[in-house]
Amino acid sequence: MKKQELYNLVINYFEKSMPVAETELHYENPFQLLVAVILSAQCTDKRVNMITPPLFRDFPTAEAMAATTPEVIFEYIRSVSYPNNKAKHLCGMAQMLTKDFNGEVPSDLDQLVRLPGVGRKTANVIQAVIFEKAAMAVDTHVFRVSHRIGLVSEKCTTPYSVEKELVRHFPEQLIPKAHHWLILHGRYTCMARNPQCDKCGLQPVCKHYQRVNGLKIQDTAAAKVSTGKKKTAAKAGRTADGR
Ligand code: SF4
Repeated sequence: MKKQELYNLVINYFEKSMPVAETELHYENPFQLLVAVILSAQCTDKRVNMITPPLFRDFPTAEAMAATTPEVIFEYIRSVSYPNNKAKHLCGMAQMLTKDFNGEVPSDLDQLVRLPGVGRKTANVIQAVIFEKAAMAVDTHVFRVSHRIGLVSEKCTTPYSVEKELVRHFPEQLIPKAHHWLILHGRYTCMARNPQCDKCGLQPVCKHYQRVNGLKIQDTAAAKVSTGKKKTAAKAGRTADGR
């Protein structure tokens, strides 16, 4: 099967099984999303959503957060991973936003990655979710799922190389949504340790499944990618399989 045919089947599957695919982080404006994404590194969205309401209430703007100290922020975020570093990053980010960007979250990659605590992955999330740009953020789920399905070559050993390959094959307008498809699929169905292959409609075309079970990938005509019993993976965090 040609690479683009595989992408088309995968797109078709997710369009039907997961028509709504959005971030599970809670936020009301670009600044809040930036804070939440920084906090979510090496941490679950669920945990971040538990601690952000009081943080957003007491520091609703970049100016308000810039005026406090990492020690104060630490007390709000102590239950997430790496709270010391993240508290420093949040204060530094808020100070730079206030000083250099008039308190507004910038839309350009080059400007976003200047902010403390913001790497390429975080910048791509902001670009895609807030500014609807064709930016593909590659986290651990996107990396694993892309390799398992066979969307990217085994030579893609870095997040950046996976990003480039995914961006080359997904239609531009679908890239922000495709990011969430792959994350949600990896989070709830194609988990790292126990992928739920028996509930996954991508079995007929999935490279990992075929290899593990000693099967041969079907050609386009034969591959029936099932979406029959799958339900919408909504923002509330339920899976395409209804779990
Ligand atoms: S068939 Fe299994 S390994 Fe392949 S994408 Fe589905 S859950 Fe993941």
